[in-house]
Amino acid sequence: MQELYADIILPIAVKGRFTYSVPADLVDFAKPGVKALVQLGNRKIYSGIICRVHDEKPDLENIRQLIRITDPEPVVNEIQLKFWSWISNYYMCSEGEVMNAAMPSAFLPEGITSSPVAERYRPREESFLELAKSFSDEELNGLLDKLKKAPAQAAILNSYLFHSGYTAGSGIVPLRKSLLLKESGSASAIMSLIGKGILATVSLRVGRLKEYPGEAESLRELSSRQAEVFQSIRSLFEEKDIVLLHGITSSGKTEIYIHLIEEQLRRGKQVLYMLPEIALTAQIILRLQKHFGTVTGVYHSRFTDQEKVEIWNKVADKDPSSGYRLILGVRSSVFLPFSDLSLVIVDEEHDGSYKQHDPAPRYNARDSAVMLAALHKAKILLGSASPSLESYSNAAMGKYGLAVLRERYGQIRLPEIIVANTREAYRKKLMVSHFTPELLSAIDTALARDEQIILFQNRRGFSPYIECPECGWIPVCTQCAVNLTYHKSINRMVCHYCGYSEEVSRKCGSCGSPGLATKGFGTEKIEDEIRILFPSARIARMDHDTTRSRNAFTRIIRAFEEHETDILIGTQMISKGLDFENLTVVGILNADNLLNYPDFRAHERSFQLLEQVSGRAGRRRKQGRVIIQTSDPAHRIIRLVLRHDYEGMYKMQAADRLSFGYPPFYRMIKISLRHRDRAELNRFADILGSDLRKQFGKGILGPEFPVISKIQLWYIKTILIKISKDKPLARVKEIIAGSVERLEKQKGTAALRIAVDVDPY
Ligand code: ADP
Ligand code: ZN
Ligand code: ZN
Repeated sequence: MQELYADIILPIAVKGRFTYSVPADLVDFAKPGVKALVQLGNRKIYSGIICRVHDEKPDLENIRQLIRITDPEPVVNEIQLKFWSWISNYYMCSEGEVMNAAMPSAFLPEGITSSPVAERYRPREESFLELAKSFSDEELNGLLDKLKKAPAQAAILNSYLFHSGYTAGSGIVPLRKSLLLKESGSASAIMSLIGKGILATVSLRVGRLKEYPGEAESLRELSSRQAEVFQSIRSLFEEKDIVLLHGITSSGKTEIYIHLIEEQLRRGKQVLYMLPEIALTAQIILRLQKHFGTVTGVYHSRFTDQEKVEIWNKVADKDPSSGYRLILGVRSSVFLPFSDLSLVIVDEEHDGSYKQHDPAPRYNARDSAVMLAALHKAKILLGSASPSLESYSNAAMGKYGLAVLRERYGQIRLPEIIVANTREAYRKKLMVSHFTPELLSAIDTALARDEQIILFQNRRGFSPYIECPECGWIPVCTQCAVNLTYHKSINRMVCHYCGYSEEVSRKCGSCGSPGLATKGFGTEKIEDEIRILFPSARIARMDHDTTRSRNAFTRIIRAFEEHETDILIGTQMISKGLDFENLTVVGILNADNLLNYPDFRAHERSFQLLEQVSGRAGRRRKQGRVIIQTSDPAHRIIRLVLRHDYEGMYKMQAADRLSFGYPPFYRMIKISLRHRDRAELNRFADILGSDLRKQFGKGILGPEFPVISKIQLWYIKTILIKISKDKPLARVKEIIAGSVERLEKQKGTAALRIAVDVDPY
C-alpha cells in the first residue's frame, strides 16, 4: 500500500509545515482539520491540526509517525485551512500563530509537555423538572385533589402544567427548575413532589449565548436614492467581487446592508457583517435582530472562551433552525468556521482597528476578509463615509466597483461645522478652562432645548502628563519611554503602554520643588469640568477606563439612547457609527493633537475621524452642529472638513503619497527589533539595515527609534521598507525573510526579538 503523509500545523511560531507518516491503522482517520498527537524534537509531544494528507515522501532521513488522532471529527474546515495558509504567507508568520489567533483557546491543540493551554470547553448543564410519567387526566385531577392540603406543592404542579401545556397524550416537556422556583418559590415542595413520584429532575445541556428572538419585522422601505444605490451595488456585483460603498454619514448605509443581507439569508446563505468596534455591535445588533431574529450571532473579544466555543459551533452548524446565518463581529470574526458564506460587509472599512498590531498574525481584517470572500466565492462590500485611500484608489482604478450615496436620509443636511480658534480665545482670555465660548454656547443651547451632546477627546485619563513648573521635569514610566498619565479618580499616574502605575509625586523628582502642575487634558478632566460648568446636566463618560466591565458599552449607550444622559464624553469609541436620535451637538475638544500626530496617515485619519464624529450629530430631524476647537483654523484638513470634501482630501493626500512613495501607491513592510540592551539593539539593527539596503537601496528607511522607543524595558528600533508595486511581492518577502534569518544566525541574537509587519497601519 502507498505510504501516506500528513502535514501538521503545530501551535508554535516556527514557520513551515511538519510532515509525519500516517500509520496504517490511522489512514481512515487522518483527514484535514482533525487533531493529531505528534512528537517534535527529542521529547516534546504536541497536539496539532492536520492540514493536508498526501503521498509525497518528504526529503528527510527519518520520518516520524503520527502518534494518535485525538478526535475523528474535524475542528476546522478546508476553507479555513486555506485561509490560515494565506494569512501566514501574506503576513509572514507561522500557521501555528494563525491557528492560535483563530480558535477559541478551549479548542486549541495544546502542547502536551508545555503548560496546558487553556481550560477545556465544558457544556453548561441546568436542572429541569418534568412529570415523572405520562399521567392521565383522571390521575392528574386526583393528584391535585390530594394536594389541596399541600398548597405549595399544588402551586408548583399547577405552574408546571400551565407552562408545559401538558395534556394526557402530549409529550412530557422539561421546564427549567429555576423558572418553577421563581414562580412558586419552594424548593422543599419540589422535593416532596419528586419524593411522591410526581415530578422528576433531569439535567440538560443549555447554551450560554443570549438569543436574539426577532419579531421578523419587515424591512423598511428604501428611499428612492437608497434604492438606486442598492440596485447599483447588485449590478456591480455581477461584474466585480468587491464593491466600495462611499456613503456620507447617516445616508442609510446600514439600511442598505440590511436589504443586501436579507436577500442572501433568503437564499439560505451565510453573511458576515464586520464592524471595527465592540461598542458598535451593541447598537447594530438591535437593528439586525428586529429583522433576522435568532439566526443572528455576535462575536467579539468580550465573550468568555466558553461562549466563544458555542458561537463557533453555531456558525459551523448548517441547520438553519439552530445555527447562525448572520454574524456581526469585529476583527477576529474572519476566523469563524463559515461554510456557506455568500456576502461579507466591512463597515467603516477605513478604520485602523481592523489591523492587529500584536502579536502575530499582524493581519488587517478588512484585507483578509477580501481573501476570505474570494475563498468562499462570496461578494464583499466595503462601506465608509470617508474610505481609506487604499480602497478609494482601488475603486478609482476600477479594481473595485464604486457606489456613492451623497445625501442623508430624509434630506437632513450635513451638520454645520464651526471652527473655534483656541489660540485667539486664549489671547482674548475668553477660554473657560478648555472650552471656547462657541462650544459652551452650543452646549447651553442644546441643553435648553433638551437635546443631547457628545464631547470628543482623543485621550483618556485626567491629564497626559505632570510637569515641574520650575525645571520642566516630567514623571515617566520606569519601563517605557512614555510620560505617565494622571488619573484623578484613582489618584495615580499610569503608563498607557504597560499599565505600570505609581502614586502621584508630591514634589519634583529632579529639583525637589513642590507644586507639580498637571498638563494637557484627557476625558476624565473634561468630565470633571463639564460637571462644574453644567451642574444640572446628566453626564457620562465612555472610554477604556469606564468600559472594563462586560456590559459597560451596552449600558452607557442604552442610557444615552434613552436620554437618561445629556452629555456623553468619550474617546474614539464614541466617534464611530453610533446613531442617536436626539443628538444635535458634537464638540471636538482638541483637533491639534490629531493633525500633528507623527504618522504619514495623520491627515487622512484626522479627516476621517472629524467626519466620522461630526456625522453623529443631527441624524434624524434637524441639522446638527459641530464645534471643532483648534489653534490652527486655516489647516488644510480643517478647511476640507468644513466643506465635507472627501474627494478634495483624497486628491491632496494621494498626491503627497505618490510623491513621497507611500501607500496606496507603494507597499510597506515594517520590521521592529527589540532588545533590552540599547547598544546591542543598535548593533543588530544596523546589520539588518545595511543588509536590506543592499537589496532595496533607497527603499529602506531607518533603522530608527520610533516615537515610543522603549516599552516594558525593551528598546525598540524600526526599519521601514517601501516597495514599488511592480515588484513581485512574494519575492520581496523571501528576500526580507532571508535577511532576517541571516541576522538570527549571528551570535548573541537569542535576546533579540524581531517582528515583521506587512502593510503596517
Ligand atoms: P449610515 O449607516 O449611513 O450612517 P443609517 O443606516 O444609520 O446611516 O441611517 C441613518 C438614520 O436614518 C437611522 O436612524 C436610520 O434608521 C434612518 N434611516 C435610514 N434609511 C431609512 C429608511 N429607508 N427608512 C427609515 N429610516 C431610515
Ligand atoms: Zn510603561
Ligand atoms: Zn523640578
